[in-house]
Amino acid sequence: MATKKKQVRPITKAAAEEAIAGTLHNLPESFLTCRDLRHSWRVQDNFLDVGMQVEPGRHVTKTVQRRLRCITCGTMRDDYYALIEKPNFAPRLEKLSSQYKYPKDYQMRPGASTRDIAVSQLVRYETLRRVLAATKKSS
Ligand SMILES: [Zn+2]
Repeated sequence: MATKKKQVRPITKAAAEEAIAGTLHNLPESFLTCRDLRHSWRVQDNFLDVGMQVEPGRHVTKTVQRRLRCITCGTMRDDYYALIEKPNFAPRLEKLSSQYKYPKDYQMRPGASTRDIAVSQLVRYETLRRVLAATKKSS
């Protein structure tokens, strides 16, 4: 006997865009600024020794972490690097990975797919909308 599969109604692109625009409409100013212009990073902790496991045989003599903090929205970013000291080569710091810790409500709703949507265009529009609203109020 064939079992009836549960129908999942696909969300249209227009509906998804509308949902994102709605979220942006209520986003704090600092979050909108960072989504529009990217984060303004400042060093919080510089190159702390972290002793990460790195695959052997790569001349990694040390692993370090640099913690950055966005001065606009407070997002924290931890970058991990491997110090590579190879004979006959200049020493270098190779980036291994980055981890972000966002302030509450910075990220879009969990599960909200932004694939195929030009979120940056919606962000810029929301910035324009607020500028126009502020201009209207002050005149
Ligand atoms: Zn930021």
